[in-house]
Amino acid sequence: MAFVITDPCINTKDTACVDVCPVDCIHPRKDEPDFDQTTILYIHPEECIDCGACVPACPVAAIYDSPESTPKSQTSLIEANAIFRSGDSATLAKAEALVSAHVAAHPELMAIPPADRANAHNK
Ligand code: SF4
Repeated sequence: MAFVITDPCINTKDTACVDVCPVDCIHPRKDEPDFDQTTILYIHPEECIDCGACVPACPVAAIYDSPESTPKSQTSLIEANAIFRSGDSATLAKAEALVSAHVAAHPELMAIPPADRANAHNK
């Protein structure tokens, strides 16, 4: 398990991370059919090579460099990243259900603009 995308990505989906990832392990891409069906982007934990290129590319600081460094408020999204496989509607539904549950559980974070949300993760 490698890098993890968290809640500032919800409804942001900037995709700058997709453009810089050298192994194309962040999905869905804009040219994939399920792009419009997800609220967040996901990193494939077995394909990620831990290069770190996506972190500075993300305009909303949504990416942590490991599950261990991911704040407790974001732990359900670690599993969402691990589950999702682009093109598989079953894993999309499971991952998006985790994101929906996260949104419902954290109205205090959702009330913060995405670009500022990561600053509140450890509070
Ligand atoms: Fe892709 Fe590197 Fe980010 Fe992993 S750390 S998702 S390989 S850009």
